[in-house]
Amino acid sequence: MLIAGDVGATKTLIGLFSPEPGRPDLVEARTFTTLEYVSLEGIVAAFLEDLQLSSDAITAATFGVAGPIVEQVAQLTNVPWRVSAGALAAYFTFPRVTLLNDLEAMAYSVPVLRPDELAFLQAGRPVATGNAALIAAGTGLGEALLHFVDGRFIPSPTEGGHADFAPRTPREIALLEHVLGWNGRADYERVLSGPGLANIHRFTHDRGCAVCGTTSGTLADPSLVSQAALDGSCPECVAALDLFVSIYGAEAGNLALRCVATAGVYLGGGIAPKILPALQDGRFLEAFRSKAPMDAFAALVPVAVILNERAGLLGAAVHAQG
Ligand SMILES: [Zn+2]
Ligand SMILES: [Zn+2]
Repeated sequence: MLIAGDVGATKTLIGLFSPEPGRPDLVEARTFTTLEYVSLEGIVAAFLEDLQLSSDAITAATFGVAGPIVEQVAQLTNVPWRVSAGALAAYFTFPRVTLLNDLEAMAYSVPVLRPDELAFLQAGRPVATGNAALIAAGTGLGEALLHFVDGRFIPSPTEGGHADFAPRTPREIALLEHVLGWNGRADYERVLSGPGLANIHRFTHDRGCAVCGTTSGTLADPSLVSQAALDGSCPECVAALDLFVSIYGAEAGNLALRCVATAGVYLGGGIAPKILPALQDGRFLEAFRSKAPMDAFAALVPVAVILNERAGLLGAAVHAQG
């Protein structure tokens, strides 16, 4: 049996999988509140105990963690503990433990996703031997690459979410100045993530937002912003989501250019499925394709939203299976 984990700053998802050709089968999954534990060992021990499972039954474990990994040790972003593959393997006597960047883990799921787990924004013309890319706006912004080498995809992490935001219009330039004014730097994550949507919302509202319940200058709950935008109850919330969607499309297109993603660009993370109608209204693709002289290239890149909320966990299991 395999253990897979998706370790986030707020929630940690642990799953038990049985190996299957191609795509491991989920047997059982549990969600833990990360900060209720002092270590990942504590969470995994609670999971094994809950399932009355001996650690001898586990042949491999892979954990996706939010944050950079150096020599199989990760200092988590916004969590006061370190995770070490060696320490986990020694503690549980698991034969094989691997830490992956969370987006790298999700990238492992891409080749095994089923058609009903994807919503295509652009069919494009997929090239089976081409590279693919993954971009995921959620608590932060993650990006990963899938290089096609020797007949299969090799996922690779990036810290592309912290690359510099490149505004394309006078309105986006004003947004950049707004972000620089209070933060001093505008990486993509400052505008393209849940907190990023709240920043854009503050930018589009001169006096606060009655629908989201914010006063001037304060930050809204991003899920309230997308709801107010989708149901049209506040024009400035609509404007905020419009900007967000355009920036998402433009950066997804940048990613496609950087790795020649002729096999597809995949949108992961919690936000995309929740704003699917906004992603489908044309603005996203308009920004994605506005890449002259590479606009014809961009129009042929397949673009799909990942609907499986547990793609990160599934990808970690795919990796554990080896
Ligand atoms: Zn609002
Ligand atoms: Zn509003």
